[in-house]
Amino acid sequence: MEFPENDKRSLNFIEAIISEDLKNKKNESRVHTRFPPEPNGYLHIGHAKSICLNFGLAEEYNGLCNLRFDDTNPEKEEVEYVDSIMEDVRWLGFEWHDKPYFASDYFDRLYDWSIKMIEAGVAYVDDQPQDLISEQRGVPTRPGIESPFRNRTIEENLDLFLRMKAGEFPNGSKVLRAKVDMTSPNMHMRDPIMYRILHEDHHRTGDKWCIYPMYDYAHGQSDFIEGITHSLCTLEFEIHRPLYDWFLDQIAEDTYRPRQIEFARLNLSYTVMSKRKLLQLVQEGLVNGWDDPRMPTISGLRRRGYTPQSIRAFADRVGIAKRDNIIDVSLLEFSVREHLNLMSPRVFAVLDPVKVVITNYPEGKTELMEVDNNPEDPEAGKRKVPFNRELYIEQNDFMEDPPKKFFRMGPGREVRLKGAYIVKCEDFVKDDDGNITEIHCTYDPDSRSGGAGANRKVKGTLHWVSVENSFDAEIRLYDRMFMDEDPDGHKDKDFREFINPDSLTVLRHCKLEPSIKSAKPEDKFQFQRLGYFCMDKDSTPENPVFNRTVPLRDPWAKKNR
Ligand code: ATP
Ligand code: MG
Repeated sequence: MEFPENDKRSLNFIEAIISEDLKNKKNESRVHTRFPPEPNGYLHIGHAKSICLNFGLAEEYNGLCNLRFDDTNPEKEEVEYVDSIMEDVRWLGFEWHDKPYFASDYFDRLYDWSIKMIEAGVAYVDDQPQDLISEQRGVPTRPGIESPFRNRTIEENLDLFLRMKAGEFPNGSKVLRAKVDMTSPNMHMRDPIMYRILHEDHHRTGDKWCIYPMYDYAHGQSDFIEGITHSLCTLEFEIHRPLYDWFLDQIAEDTYRPRQIEFARLNLSYTVMSKRKLLQLVQEGLVNGWDDPRMPTISGLRRRGYTPQSIRAFADRVGIAKRDNIIDVSLLEFSVREHLNLMSPRVFAVLDPVKVVITNYPEGKTELMEVDNNPEDPEAGKRKVPFNRELYIEQNDFMEDPPKKFFRMGPGREVRLKGAYIVKCEDFVKDDDGNITEIHCTYDPDSRSGGAGANRKVKGTLHWVSVENSFDAEIRLYDRMFMDEDPDGHKDKDFREFINPDSLTVLRHCKLEPSIKSAKPEDKFQFQRLGYFCMDKDSTPENPVFNRTVPLRDPWAKKNR
């Protein structure tokens, strides 16, 4: 096996550990990672970071990466989540080893091992309620109180545990605990709970079990069963590591053992990322589902118009840290802008239209103006956009009484209509409320782009669409979901207090050029001068809908200048 010792990029600390392990031929020089989501919600951008890390390391070291559902909690888990997780991992461009694995497939082996632990005198049944057990654990600086049931005989423990499994006892009446050390300064070592009674059907095992293993017990043993070599998790599990190792001590061989390594979780500014809070936003109708384009979920980002490449590039840029920090959401936006700039066709769209009539242009005439599809991509070619006597431009590209530096349209001024002619504003019409309803221009027939007179320079260039040859669409503009950098970080305030009331703006009767009439959901475009947009799944032939992924430039960066 090769490992990139001479790679120019310096190794991050996890790569350094793996390289060292390979040098020492640890675990027969295998690299096998896993991504272990609990199917209790949709994946978010933090999970994407973990997916890129785990699958990325497997690729880098010619190893394997498993997808394992950590489905030990039947109360909150659903098949819908399992399906969405698989879809998201694949969409990001990764393929798991073999087939999806489930911790629930190991319930029998976990049970058998716990019987062995009872027989070895290192596990016991405790009849006390869970809150009393927690209380007896005490504080790290003083030893905890031993349970009066701690020294039950092996026979009695076996009998009670079998009857727990057989369903003889109600929820909460008994637990199985590991007999570790009630004096340990590490609270997780103070006789942790291994099994609890839960008379609840499981989405995969049905009613077979009424006792379920706890995460700490199930996780490391599942790693062991799957032959995982490097078990990567977020920092809050660092304190669990001695317990992870202790459970493995009960079953591990000399030749193979998984190793837990912790890294800092990804936090993004102006976002909440805990699944519990995201679920709350969904359940309380504060967003339109898990894939609402304002959500930091992978499905939300996909619907918003993000590409897998841009998310992977973002994960790469963020890197791997040992300390928690908050990454600026503008870095994510930068990554998507960078990719969309390379790959998305340019088109004309007018979001807030005002009509322009070119008074010296023949009625009924149509010219097809040839324009570049994407100047960044030599392969992208050109397209033809129909030009007519009546056009739309943006309301805010016209000013009745413009200042000198306004290089757009105003009375008596000339601008170029992108890819077409230079026009001069001669007059305009206002309604009773003072709104501009129509602008009258003349065009210079010798100024056609690409023609002999094309070199005549004017300061401003505007985008436009033909009145006759355009179609109506609904456009959804998004802003940050929260107005606070760390909505989750206030002790005395609920994160929902920081929801941005203007996070969604819906515009109707926007005018789009005809070339994208047959676009499909997720198709991506640059609407020139306006930003990157993608078609939404809510689209119908009567009402096409487009989401703005990001504006061309970061509007927040401008404000701070
Ligand atoms: P949440 O806190 O959002 O509920 P979780 O840790 O409970 O997340 P899991 O489904 O258990 O969610 O996570 C699966 C994997 O993804 C774990 O290995 C976890 O460490 C990792 N992960 C979760 N959130 C992040 C994050 N913000 N950054 C990096 N990795 C994460
Ligand atoms: Mg978790």
